[in-house]
Amino acid sequence: MKGNWLLSIHRFQSLIELQPVKFILEIFLLNYISTRGGDETLSLAQLLTRGTASDGGLFVPRQWPKLGSDTLDTLLTGEYADIATAVLTLFGGDTMPSGLIQNAVHSAMSQFNDPVGPPVSALSDGLWALELMHGPTLAFKDFALAPLAEIIDQTLQHQDQRATVLCATSGDTGAATVSAFANRERVNAVVLFPNGGVSEFQRKQMTTTGAANVLPLRVDGDFDQCQKIVKALYQTPAAARHGYTAVNSINIVRILLQSAYYFRSSGIVYRKSNKPCNFIVPTGNFGNIYAAYIAKQLGAPIGKLIITSNDNDVLPRLFETTTMAGNQTVKTISPSMDIQVSSNFERLLWHIKGNDGTAVKKAQNSLESDNRYHLSDAEMATLEQDFAAFRCPEEEALSAIKSVWQKHEKIICPHSATAFYAAHHLPASMEGDTVVVETAHPAKFSDAVYKAIGERPKIPQSAREMLAASESFESVIATADAVQSAIDTKFS
Ligand SMILES: *Cc1c(COP(=O)(O)O)cnc(C)c1O
Repeated sequence: MKGNWLLSIHRFQSLIELQPVKFILEIFLLNYISTRGGDETLSLAQLLTRGTASDGGLFVPRQWPKLGSDTLDTLLTGEYADIATAVLTLFGGDTMPSGLIQNAVHSAMSQFNDPVGPPVSALSDGLWALELMHGPTLAFKDFALAPLAEIIDQTLQHQDQRATVLCATSGDTGAATVSAFANRERVNAVVLFPNGGVSEFQRKQMTTTGAANVLPLRVDGDFDQCQKIVKALYQTPAAARHGYTAVNSINIVRILLQSAYYFRSSGIVYRKSNKPCNFIVPTGNFGNIYAAYIAKQLGAPIGKLIITSNDNDVLPRLFETTTMAGNQTVKTISPSMDIQVSSNFERLLWHIKGNDGTAVKKAQNSLESDNRYHLSDAEMATLEQDFAAFRCPEEEALSAIKSVWQKHEKIICPHSATAFYAAHHLPASMEGDTVVVETAHPAKFSDAVYKAIGERPKIPQSAREMLAASESFESVIATADAVQSAIDTKFS
C-alpha cells in the first residue's frame, strides 16, 4: 500500500498550522467548475438542482478541501448524518443557510431503519459487506436522494419558492425520487417510466405513495424516449412556470452525500484490520464508485476501488484495451447497470488528465462523434493506481448468487452478485480487507434470485405494505406535449 494515510493527515495538519489564513480562504472559496474548461463557476448552493454545465461538462470542485485530523476522525467514526453534514460543509456548505444542512440530513436519516448508517458486516476472513439496500426503496440511491430532497425542500422554503423535479427512470432512480419527494411542501415530483420497462415492484414503488405532489407517468415508449421528453421540457416556457429541476445521477451533491458511507465503513474496517480496505462497487454511471474515490482523496483508509460490470462492460474493456468505446446496450438481470455511457467517469477523466479541461473536452467530443477515446500509458497508470475492473457475465452472476447463499446464507441481488463474483477472483497479491458494496435488496429482483437458487427472497414488511397498496398513475403517449399537458392538469 502506497501513501500512509496517517502520514498524510499529519501533513495536512502541519499545513493548517503553518498557513491558517490560506486554509480558511481555501475552504471559503471552494467552488465548482466544469470538467470541460468553460468559465462558469458555481457554489454548492447553486448546484443543488443543476445538471450539466453549459459547455456540456460536469461540475467538479476546483480542488479537494483540506481537512485536519479532528475532521478526518469525525468522518471515520461518526454516524451517517454527522459525516454527510461534515462532508457537505467541507465542500462549500457555507454557501447555504447556517444549520440547514445539518437539520435536513438528520431529518432525512431519521426515516431510515438504521439511522446511524448502513450496516457493515464481516462475512469471512477479510471479506465484508456494506449493505446499502435497507433504505426506504431498498437501493443505495436512497442515501443520497432522501437527504437531498430534504435540503432542496428547506432551501426553497427559505427562499419562498417552489420547484418541480422531473425524472426519467428505468426503475431505481424513479422509486428513490418518488419516496424522497413524496409529501414535500415546496416540491412536486414527476417521474416518467417506460411502459413495460420497469418491474412490477419498481412500478408500485412509484405509484402507491398516494402523495398529492407526485405524478407518476407511464409513457408509451422506451427509456430513451422518456429521457428525451424530459430534456425537451427543460427548454419550454413551462420550465420556468413549474420550476423544472433535475436530481439525476450526475448531481455532485448526491455523490458527496454518498461519500459519507465510504468514510464510515472504511473507518469501521480499519479499526478491526489496521489496514486500508478495498471496495468492490457494482457500477453503471460511475456515481457510487466516484463517491468512494472522493473519500480516498480526502484521506479515508481506502486501498483499491474495484469496478464491476455486467455484460455491458464498457469500463472493464477500457482497462483491457486502453480505449473507452461504447457498445450496443444489452438487457441483463441487473438493469440498473445496463449502461454503455458511464457519465460520471468524465469527472475521473478530469483528474487523470491533470485537471485539464481542454483535454477532457477533446476526449468527450471524440466519444460523442466517433464513440471512442484513448488513454495514454501514463494516463492508464494513473487510473490503475486507484482502480481495477471486472466483467461478470450473466451465468457467473447467477452462480455468485448461489455460492453466496450456500457459503454465507445470504441472499444477494443480481447487481451485488457482480461484486461478489469479483471478490472470488481477486489476485492473491491484493493487500488489505475487501468490502463488497451491496447496491439493492434482492426482493426487488426476485425472478433473477429464483433462477439462481430456486427460492424467492423474503420481502421486507415495509415493501409488503407498498405492494398491497392501490396504484395511481397516468398513461401518456411519448410526446413532450402529452407529458406537459398531464403536468399542467395535475399541478395547475
Ligand atoms: C444505480 C444503481 C447502480 C449503478 O450505480 P452508479 O452510481 O450509476 O454507478 C448499481 N446497482 C443498483 C442496484 C443501482 O440502483
